[in-house]
Amino acid sequence: MNLADVQAKYQAFKELGLKLDMSRGKPAPEQLDLSLPLLDALDGFKTADGTDTRNYGGGVAEARALFASLLDVPAGQVVVEGSASLSLMHDVLIYSMVYGQPGHAPWAGQSPAFICPVPGYDRHFGICEALGIRMINVAMTDNGPDMDEVERLVASDASIKGMWNVPKYSNPGGVVYSDETIRRLAAMKTAAPDFILMWDDAYRFHHLTEENIVSAGVIDACAAAGNPNRAWVFASTSKVTFAGAGLAALASSTDNVAWWTKKSGIRSIGPDKVNQLRHVRFLKDRAGVEALMVKHRDILAPKFDAVLAQFEAVLGGVEGVSWTYPKGGYFIDLVTPNGFAKQTIELAKAAGITLTPAGAAFPYGKDPKDAHIRIAPSFPSLKEIAQAAEGIALALRLAIGR
Ligand code: PMP
Repeated sequence: MNLADVQAKYQAFKELGLKLDMSRGKPAPEQLDLSLPLLDALDGFKTADGTDTRNYGGGVAEARALFASLLDVPAGQVVVEGSASLSLMHDVLIYSMVYGQPGHAPWAGQSPAFICPVPGYDRHFGICEALGIRMINVAMTDNGPDMDEVERLVASDASIKGMWNVPKYSNPGGVVYSDETIRRLAAMKTAAPDFILMWDDAYRFHHLTEENIVSAGVIDACAAAGNPNRAWVFASTSKVTFAGAGLAALASSTDNVAWWTKKSGIRSIGPDKVNQLRHVRFLKDRAGVEALMVKHRDILAPKFDAVLAQFEAVLGGVEGVSWTYPKGGYFIDLVTPNGFAKQTIELAKAAGITLTPAGAAFPYGKDPKDAHIRIAPSFPSLKEIAQAAEGIALALRLAIGR
């Protein structure tokens, strides 16, 4: 397609007057419908040990056991609490600022900094920004963050207190950390004795192919390397059952879990056990979760395929333009030639397509190359997705003028 064809097609697209939102990685209504039986899953309100879930008190043991099997850790190293893993991450950092990691001084007053693999998840960066934690960009590779750079940074700077990680099917690049990356992160020498890995396993079960990638366990890797308290692992059922109304969990060493439980016990008398029991009755076990995730995949994979097909048709062979082929997760990272992401997003907007703002996948909202566009194909219908992907591709070609 030459530029004149691109201009004509873009104009025609604009005149359709569509309203398409590809900005956030929300599950589609059909995906949420998969978990409708959750609303009727309770056949009583008592757990196996006789706990009345309607009353105050600690979490449901069966929910803990379910997450232990999902996260491959002993149940004693798991806490199921709340409905948003992001809140758990936020609280770990707040507690670290105020109280310090177990056995260490509070971070506040030490001008703490975090390593942020980029592109990454905007809400992680939002937490750091809100708490005044300085962010240091490190580039992503196909195997995870650039480990030579990470090791170099953490070895000499004691103000670097931690690092964000989405180890599987990262948001937005779909990157999967290799086992070697995980081993190096667990073992690396850090100037800060209280350095932590924030391990957001948000897409642990969210495969888009039949490959179902399994990664090395970071908690075990840290323990084996003599850094047992380094990793804080987070997960939720936001994209398994209901987004924002599911279960969230964290896992870490027994010391860290004891620390968390004490701090969190000051904040709340106990979690929503009714929702925990409902989830256990509905999901049952790991096999139940995996079977449900296959149904999600059946809805999501064609949407990803539709985007990729449009990109190949309109952008294939265009110099400087590339995109990811994720094997899981919720996003595609579309990479424009340097300096064209913002303009592409504006042209897409003018054609009725809302995208995540340019720079959102970078700390402080600043993509130094202005080259990354996060594509979230989950929410709109298959037909809308294909239309939107074509519109985005046309906008990109129009922006770069070729
Ligand atoms: N982490 C990542 C990497 C995500 O992409 C998302 C949702 N977009 C979340 C966490 C949010 O998870 P939750 O709903 O459990 O807070």
